[in-house]
Amino acid sequence: MKKLFFAVVLTIVSIVINAQPKNETISKIAESSLEYYGNIYRTIHSNPELSLCEKETSAMVAKEMKRMGLEVHEGFGGYGVVGIFKNGDGPVVLLRADMDALPIKEATGLPFASTKMCDVNGVQTPAFHACGHDVHTTVMLGTVNALVSLKKGWKGTLIALAEPAEEVGKGAHGIIDAGLFTKFPIPDYVLAYHVFPDSEVGSVEYSKGPAMAGVKDYDITFKGKGAHGAYPHEGIDPIVMAANAVLEYQTIVSRSVKAFEPAVVTVGAFNSGSRPNIINEKAYLKITARFFNEEVGNLIDRRIREITNAVAKAAGATDDMMPEIEMISPLPPVINNSELVDKVVVSMKNILGEANVHENNSPSMAAEDFSLYRTASPKVQAAMFSLGVSPKGKHTTALHSPTFKPEFDGAYITGVQAMTRAIIDLMVSK
Ligand SMILES: [Zn+2]
Ligand SMILES: [Zn+2]
Repeated sequence: MKKLFFAVVLTIVSIVINAQPKNETISKIAESSLEYYGNIYRTIHSNPELSLCEKETSAMVAKEMKRMGLEVHEGFGGYGVVGIFKNGDGPVVLLRADMDALPIKEATGLPFASTKMCDVNGVQTPAFHACGHDVHTTVMLGTVNALVSLKKGWKGTLIALAEPAEEVGKGAHGIIDAGLFTKFPIPDYVLAYHVFPDSEVGSVEYSKGPAMAGVKDYDITFKGKGAHGAYPHEGIDPIVMAANAVLEYQTIVSRSVKAFEPAVVTVGAFNSGSRPNIINEKAYLKITARFFNEEVGNLIDRRIREITNAVAKAAGATDDMMPEIEMISPLPPVINNSELVDKVVVSMKNILGEANVHENNSPSMAAEDFSLYRTASPKVQAAMFSLGVSPKGKHTTALHSPTFKPEFDGAYITGVQAMTRAIIDLMVSK
């Protein structure tokens, strides 16, 4: 009786396993779709759109999702696109890609290099996909294509999300505020890639736990009292005020934050004045603060406010002249869910080979609004993976540089293979 029971169980298990698409089948779909999606990639690359202006890119993504049979919601949280593919009872997996480009003039020399200029407040500004979001968008479409083609091999709901305005930290905020977690099924798993120039094409890197920093950006306005530069005693100088604050902010990380906690406070912009002989009325600072621990983020926030106000007071500012402190689009850190990473890594190693999936133990102080999908619901397990894009044995230039040149073909095939395998395994394994 026991033997019969095990025989039945084994047969059921083998039927289930056999129903799963094989690696070779997934690889074939990835390779045979390269030409079609390569054209889409080059079209997006040649027509980059800056954050909050992703009109044509999002229309193209929506058209592609509709072609594949997804239920498509356009204009979601700005130019966001949400595509839903319901394929029976099972887990909900969300695959996210960002779409926006950067205000940089491309200097890669590629035949399909961007020559596009975008209107930014009346100023013609060059646009370039220097952060590889064109790769992310195309790999996401290619993965959806593979998953739809293999729909008989998995059960569950796939949500494909094309996010706008990542570079300015507004995309995920907008998408979540528009109802991503209330209008659609809440995802069990949220996955994404970011291209990674430190890694060769053909490989994927992963990290468990803290991966990218949380961020709080600030616009600070110091208010002084204008006067002639020859009579400074008649005014209150906001430049001196702001200069004191810039130096005092340096003590936040060195004296207020515990030495074992990673943190950064950078004053990235200091603007004021027009002539040598005019004491200006105002001085403006832009600050970014980075951290991995929310308590450290709160401590930095408190110290920035204390220092800013105290410096102004010390310079003689009255109550109505206290500085304005505006925090812009704060983001929590990207903390990859270790349980999800473990599962996905098994799948990715299975299709790419053990040697092509590496652990990266160096968290980055850069930030990503992907972190908001983790904190939006306690149900969500989220993880972001790094997709190698440098030529074998070489190193392409850094993200956000004018010569950033990813190896698209290899990265596309690797990215689609690994993510398709991972999602199918997550769907079937529940
Ligand atoms: Zn970027
Ligand atoms: Zn990016």
